Amino acid sequence: MGNSNNKTILFAASEAFPFAKSGGLADVMHSLPKALSKEYRTSVIIPLYQFIDKKKYGISSLGENTHVIMGKNDYFIELYGCQYEGVDYYFVYSPSLSDRPFMYGPPEEGYEDNAHRFALFCQAIIQLLKQKHFDLLHLNDWQSAMSALFVKEESSIDTKVVYTIHNMAYQGIFNKDTLDQLGLHHDYFTPERLEFYGDINFMKSGIAYADGITTVSPSYCGEILSPEFGNGLDGFLQFHSSKLKGILNGLDDDHFSPQKDMLLEKRYGPKKLKDKYINKKLYFRSIGFNDPEKPLFIFIGRFTWQKGIDILVDALNEMAQMPISISILGEGDLKYRQKLAKVALKHKNISLFFGYDESVSHKMYAAADFLLMPSLFEPCGLNQMIAMKYGAIPIVHGVGGLKDTVSPLEKFDAKADIGYGIVSKKKSAEALATSVQKAVSLFDDKKKLNRIILHNMNVDFSSRKSAERYSELYTELLQNSP
Ligand code: ADP
Repeated sequence: MGNSNNKTILFAASEAFPFAKSGGLADVMHSLPKALSKEYRTSVIIPLYQFIDKKKYGISSLGENTHVIMGKNDYFIELYGCQYEGVDYYFVYSPSLSDRPFMYGPPEEGYEDNAHRFALFCQAIIQLLKQKHFDLLHLNDWQSAMSALFVKEESSIDTKVVYTIHNMAYQGIFNKDTLDQLGLHHDYFTPERLEFYGDINFMKSGIAYADGITTVSPSYCGEILSPEFGNGLDGFLQFHSSKLKGILNGLDDDHFSPQKDMLLEKRYGPKKLKDKYINKKLYFRSIGFNDPEKPLFIFIGRFTWQKGIDILVDALNEMAQMPISISILGEGDLKYRQKLAKVALKHKNISLFFGYDESVSHKMYAAADFLLMPSLFEPCGLNQMIAMKYGAIPIVHGVGGLKDTVSPLEKFDAKADIGYGIVSKKKSAEALATSVQKAVSLFDDKKKLNRIILHNMNVDFSSRKSAERYSELYTELLQNSP
């Protein structure tokens, strides 16, 4: 790869597309290192989960087995590797981390030993840094956050550390005994370090010990300094705010492009918008719907409180009585699946898919006229950007990354490099139903509809933009290196 400077960056996270994905973090761990690989030598390290297809991606052992001592125990670790789209990928194999059917645990629960599993992952990152020099370690979310502290403890490692918060709602909070299990000194059990209301908090390690902290949109960056969005860490973040920046996530242009998408039967683009309708017809046929003239509203995502699933469930009955079709794909709490299934039973124009399916999701974006994304908070959100790229108009609340990527239709300006959608300030089922009603009216005004769709499809949501901002941050931090 022709990278233009010789600096090396190692990204660490619990997931990366295409190997292991449950949400936006995996997409970013694919698109960002790839976009930065033109400038830097980029690598990514993730756990080698049991379900990762080693054969498909040519993942093989690097012949580097080590042992890590944590607390009173000694753990076996083996590093694997492969190259994918110009980026070096490392995979950590260790029995308790890897030999499980899920990344974090069955849908509604986490594995009991997740603190231990991901601390082990963080120690494996340190082992790699001891073997191979990286100028900068870029950690993501709580699962890799403890590496920030481990790096500072290890005098032989000379690397700058950036920590990115993808979601304040997941901090990695475990009971105090974890300190001993991880072999950490009790000096760390203070509010300035890892202690959090009597427990220990992995995210605090990233915030306290990284040289730079980012979160995934400028608006969320401001929000998390307040009690409403800070999940108990707003004060701690305020204390470290001189290190904090908001950098909007972007999309990989090859993976999320209706012109290039190999998961679609009929590719299309702004110049061939008519072909989007072919995708809609094909999708309707596949789910047994027969009214492609009516607008299709989709929801794709985790069934959690954050994503506004309660609002969606409550609005669904009223929405289903409008002249529209609704298709929902996601996984999560049983109670939500049951509630959705109950409403869907009453209406023929609701289709439900429970599970995770990349191929179905792409077909849905291609078929959709509108995306329902009533998130109560949204650090960045990729769905709305993907939807706009695929010519579906997002229906959102004006929060976090949604605010930074979707402007209200009423402010439409063809020259602005921002997307447009139906934005509601109120977060309620009634407000969502009203937004859907607005969308139905817009759907009838084909001239206006097409103008907005075409505008949105041409907005630059690519990860090139975020790569430029990260590159500025890396340069700043690396210049200050001794
Ligand atoms: P999250 O908070 O879950 O990370 P994002 O909007 O940042 O949400 O990213 C979600 C990513 O995961 C998108 O690529 C979206 O298409 C994908 N996704 C979410 N749920 C599913 C699912 N059930 N099946 C397929 N893809 C999904």
